[in-house]
Amino acid sequence: MIIIKSKREIDLMRVAGQVVALVFKELEPLCRPGVSTEYLSEKAEEIIRAHDCLPTFKGYYGFPGAVCISLNDTLVHGIPSKHIILKEGDIVSIDVGATYKGYVADACRTFGVGEIKDNARRLVEVTKQSFFEGVKLVKPGVHLGDVSHAIQAYCEAHGYSLPRDYTGHGVGAHLHEDPSIPNYGKAGTGPILQEGMGLAIEPMVAEGRHQTRVLPDEWTVKMRDGKLSAHYENTIVVTSDGYEILTMYEGEE
Ligand code: MG
Repeated sequence: MIIIKSKREIDLMRVAGQVVALVFKELEPLCRPGVSTEYLSEKAEEIIRAHDCLPTFKGYYGFPGAVCISLNDTLVHGIPSKHIILKEGDIVSIDVGATYKGYVADACRTFGVGEIKDNARRLVEVTKQSFFEGVKLVKPGVHLGDVSHAIQAYCEAHGYSLPRDYTGHGVGAHLHEDPSIPNYGKAGTGPILQEGMGLAIEPMVAEGRHQTRVLPDEWTVKMRDGKLSAHYENTIVVTSDGYEILTMYEGEE
C-alpha cells in the first residue's frame, strides 16, 4: 500500500534529509587513503545523533553498522569495519539513513578516493546522472515505470548493466515502503505517481554483468564478476507539479 504523506510528515522528512546531506558534506573530504570504513561510519553516526536523529540502518534486520559503506565491486550493504581501509583509486559508496521524530530520509553517494581511473569516474558520473534522468520525469500522473525505464535506458546506453535484486522504494514512516522502484522497467507501467509520495530513487549500476552474490556475513553484496559498481540515491517527495529532493545540501552539485 502506498502511503501519501501529509505536509507535517514531509516537514519531518525534510529535516532528516538535511542531516543525511550534511553527512555527505562532512564525509566526502574524509574519504582518503588509509581511512577505515569504521571511522567513516562513526563520524556519520556522530553527525546524525548530534542533530537529534537516529541512524536508521543500525539494527535494521540486525544490520550491525550505522551506515552502509561499499567499496568498488561491493554493490550495497557493506558493513563498516576497521579492517576495510580506503586506498588510492577506490570508489566508496556511503548509504545513509537518518530518522527524525519517526520519519526517515535515505540517500547514497559514491566518492572517489584520491585519483581514480577514467573508467571509475565515468561509472560514478553516469550512475549519478541516471538518477537525474529518472527524477526529471517525476510529477503527479506519471507512471513509475517511466522513471525506471529512463534510468535503465541511460545506463545501458553507456554500456552498463542494472542489478535486478535491489531496488529503490517508498520511504517515510518506514525505511522501506511501497512502491518498490526498480532501476529497469517499461514506460507506461507501474503505479501512478501522486502528490505526497515519498520515494527513495537509487540507481545501483554495474560496470560489468548485473549478477550479484551475498557474502557469508549475509549483508555484503558483491558483483559476481568482480567489476566496479556505483550507487547514487536521494529521497524525494512528489509535489503538485514535480518533485522536491530532500537529501541534497545547498550548493551540492
Ligand atoms: Mg534506499
